[in-house]
Amino acid sequence: MELNLSNLSGQSASNSRQCEVLILGSGPAGLAAALYAARAELEPVVLTGMVMGGQAGLTDTIENYPGFPEGVGGYQLGELFQKQAERFGARVEVDSAVSVDLSQRPFHIKTDNGEYLSQALIVATGANPNLLNIPGEKELTGRGVSYCATCDGYFFKEKRVVVVGGGDSALEEAAFLTRFARSVTIIHRRQELRAGAILQERAQENPKVNFIWNTVVTEVVGEKKVESIHLKNVQSGEESTIQTDGVFIFIGNTPNTQIFNRQLELNDLGYIKVDHLMQTSVAGVFAAGEVADPHFRQVVTSAGMGAAAAIQASRFLADQGS
Ligand code: NAP
Repeated sequence: MELNLSNLSGQSASNSRQCEVLILGSGPAGLAAALYAARAELEPVVLTGMVMGGQAGLTDTIENYPGFPEGVGGYQLGELFQKQAERFGARVEVDSAVSVDLSQRPFHIKTDNGEYLSQALIVATGANPNLLNIPGEKELTGRGVSYCATCDGYFFKEKRVVVVGGGDSALEEAAFLTRFARSVTIIHRRQELRAGAILQERAQENPKVNFIWNTVVTEVVGEKKVESIHLKNVQSGEESTIQTDGVFIFIGNTPNTQIFNRQLELNDLGYIKVDHLMQTSVAGVFAAGEVADPHFRQVVTSAGMGAAAAIQASRFLADQGS
């Protein structure tokens, strides 16, 4: 028989652990929240989620996080964040939340490995890359189709690759791929890039980078690995095929909020709605980083949101007399 934990009103069941603050996600927002909550002596527990360090941890070099004039590796920065939070008593667990019950406190969070009962919750679950949803994409993911240049770029030494998208991610990752690839073709559905000026300039000046404008990819083709892609010019309607060894897709992200559906207020795009104090629609639940921020999505802004969420969680718990 399954134990009904919602009847336990704060009592610990054998397989559930209690904490003052549970933090979901180990990206910059989650780990900054952990540092602040730990320094408030709340002994926070951080569940890493699927990827330790979040999306920032997959970034090769972060050049715009203050305090690192030469840049810093994304994974290395995550490790530094973690070390600093742990020094003050945060506990980082390799685990993921699979469902939540936020209808009463303590909040009940079921995970891959058990269950937590927490007095306050900080959601920093980030976002995942969007898919093109075209034929061949899923089938060839990991066999030439990729959403992470830092992870897979090395496999494309002296190969031809394409990058899909015209935003900061596309151009940043394209620049990274030029370290390995023989050529990097950026395919963008419009004539103008969305990316910032510096990234645009660098891409235009890089002899390995070229552009195909006003064009979408309609199919990825290959037997065992990517061999070519079908393209369509959105203005002329002209269709074409080009040979390529890799397809790197950077067309934006979708927030990881599926388990909060009908529990927290979300906006039209699925991001968690927060006020300026990082408070969600449920008292005691806070959100920080990209899961609540479709606009900035920077390590520095996510870390700032994480710190703010933890400060507010600490005030909330003090007000509750916890
Ligand atoms: P983004 O800014 O939303 O750009 C997505 C790009 O993909 C756009 O160029 C968009 O085209 C294109 N796109 C979207 N759906 C598509 C589809 N179905 N088919 C083809 N193309 C499609 O996403 P992002 O580049 O991941 O950046 C997200 C946020 O993170 C931004 O605020 C960005 O500034 C920030 N960011 C910053 C840095 C940095 O500062 N170093 C690095 C990475 C990300 P359109 O332009 O036509 O809409």
